[in-house]
Amino acid sequence: MSLVSLRELLVEARRARYAVPMFDVSNAAMMRAAVEVAEEENSPVILAGIEPDLEGSMIEYWSSAARLAAFRAKVPVAVMLDHAATPELCRRAADAGFSGVMIDASSEPFERNVELTRLVATEMHRRGVSVEAELGHVGDGSAGAGEAVLTGSEGTHSVYTDPASVAEFVARSQCDALAVSIGTAHGVYATAPQLKIDLLAEINAISPVPLVLHGGSGTPEEQLRAAIANGIAKINICSEVMYAWHKTLLDELSSAPNLSYWDVTACMKPERAIREVMRAKIRLFGSNRA
Ligand SMILES: [Zn+2]
Repeated sequence: MSLVSLRELLVEARRARYAVPMFDVSNAAMMRAAVEVAEEENSPVILAGIEPDLEGSMIEYWSSAARLAAFRAKVPVAVMLDHAATPELCRRAADAGFSGVMIDASSEPFERNVELTRLVATEMHRRGVSVEAELGHVGDGSAGAGEAVLTGSEGTHSVYTDPASVAEFVARSQCDALAVSIGTAHGVYATAPQLKIDLLAEINAISPVPLVLHGGSGTPEEQLRAAIANGIAKINICSEVMYAWHKTLLDELSSAPNLSYWDVTACMKPERAIREVMRAKIRLFGSNRA
């Protein structure tokens, strides 16, 4: 099926009422795991890199491996940049062959968010790259999940998406997908989140573009099902995959007689562990067409 645009994947997911999983992946084994599990489940999938994965020349290694995984795949795969703070990083991703970028100006004032997203969207669309933006702000789970408070000096708290600004934001920013803040948070939850499904339904009724949920890791399954039923077309999973990888690797290394052996051997069990996390998400999100 090969590499497809983020927009194409999400428009179809919204129409058919499932959510495409986006997995943050930091190495080729993680990419292979995500794509092979997606193939086994007959599901589209999104591979995402964030700035630390893409420092310097690493963007070329990362994107070559991700694009190879996409071109080999029997299912549609999008390759995207997660949480870019600047147009420059989006440009580097487009140069490296990504099919989507997220420009995250969600902690900026509304007008600045519109302006920055519009700038990125204009340039990316000329290059056939889709753009995800964020309205409202999804904060950090360890700060207290889903506690939506107005941002003061700290940028870690969530601020719910205001449905009254959605139509204007999408029309002016020209984004292809919109990340909303409805009670999830990034990272590991200190307390379980409580999603505002009514708010989501209201936003979905207005939004011309598919909606995205960040902070999917650790969100109770029933709430994710309700979110998908009410318009979420993409769910980002990072922490659960990284936890499974690192915990399994730690166990593996702790029980090794010595540490002078092949990394690829040490990473066999971690890869199996993340495959099972990814498979469970695909089935939960209903993106499997098996
Ligand atoms: Zn995020």
